[in-house]
Amino acid sequence: MKIFPAPRNARVFLSIIAIMAIRPAFAQELLELNIEQRCIFSGGGMDEELYRFADDDDIDKRVAEIMSLGGAASSFDIVQTNVENVSAVLDGEKRYLLYSLDFIEKASEIEITGALAHEIGHHANEHSFDPQLRKTEEAEADQFMGYILSLKGFSRQDIEAFLKKLPSSYDIPVDERLTAVREGFDRAGRALQINSLPFDDDPQLAGLTLPGFPWPPPSCNARFELPEASFKDLKTLGEVEQKIRKALDAKGYAQRSYFSVPNGFALVTQLEQYNGDDGSVRNDRTRWLDYPARDNFEGVLDYLKSLVMPQKGYFRLFVFVVTNQPFGGSAKRVSKEQATAWLSMGFNKLPKSLADASFSSDYSVTSLVYEFEVPEINRKPVQKCPSPRFDAKTHLFKAGLSPGLGF
Ligand SMILES: [Zn+2]
Repeated sequence: MKIFPAPRNARVFLSIIAIMAIRPAFAQELLELNIEQRCIFSGGGMDEELYRFADDDDIDKRVAEIMSLGGAASSFDIVQTNVENVSAVLDGEKRYLLYSLDFIEKASEIEITGALAHEIGHHANEHSFDPQLRKTEEAEADQFMGYILSLKGFSRQDIEAFLKKLPSSYDIPVDERLTAVREGFDRAGRALQINSLPFDDDPQLAGLTLPGFPWPPPSCNARFELPEASFKDLKTLGEVEQKIRKALDAKGYAQRSYFSVPNGFALVTQLEQYNGDDGSVRNDRTRWLDYPARDNFEGVLDYLKSLVMPQKGYFRLFVFVVTNQPFGGSAKRVSKEQATAWLSMGFNKLPKSLADASFSSDYSVTSLVYEFEVPEINRKPVQKCPSPRFDAKTHLFKAGLSPGLGF
């Protein structure tokens, strides 16, 4: 084992020295891999020397199935080796899924699927395994696992029993893991209900109740009524939704969620981190991180400092409310966690029954912007209230949404 100094952490390399000289009778190839950036399903350690064993067709099939169920597009090498169970590793640019055949042979079906799905979830989400991001990345991998387990037909009870047996990994309380897995599980349930219907006008879709948006909407938002002229020739709520959706798609707001409101619907975008100084969009991976992260560094020292010096983060999400009912704000506020959860609570598309409902001049399209700041001191998100950092029109403009929305 050699240790090389590196700016972020000491990197551990596995050496391949001497393998040629003293090759054992039953040859096994030493796996030369930097395993420092990784998740191992048990959360435990890993042997310093890993060996590559023969591939296993059954595992390849299982992995392919999970990738396809999860709609995941990621490439990684699958390697049978002497790990405790299953592990995701990022070595430089290259990703690996390591597994132990011994574990696979002894484990139950839910343990195998769960462990594989969790680790594949790390790759599907392009995780960095940076210790600073550990908590969020583990939650995302657990959500992916819950999603897959649901699609594979495991019940909520099966999953909870399985999770309770898990060793606590990376100091994440089991309750938090349960919440993440349940979120993924519920999302799959809703997606299945909707997507299993062959046609958008399947009568069963009408039978599903679109979850209601909190009404009146929680207070402390910036509000902007979109110009009537932008929607004047549109005949149905579906056409209005399509116009908003196209504007959002053009600017990378691909994730959204639909709710019902009196006589209409609400469309909620994913919580986004934006540039606090001018309200502009972040054009890198920090945009969708739900914790403060810097998007540019002036050098290695600046980067290192950012890891120990907490930083301020600015977050926002847009809610588009389409209704002919007047509304104010409720006395209730919404926390950043609740607002983030909106994304997984609604439907992923507007049900046909609502899309077909007619749109007329008595309707208005209102954009609400919820802003949150995470201060340096304690990293606890606070809602910007009463005065938002920017007005809603500025937010929409800076997000690049104004051309698509006609102002
Ligand atoms: Zn993990």
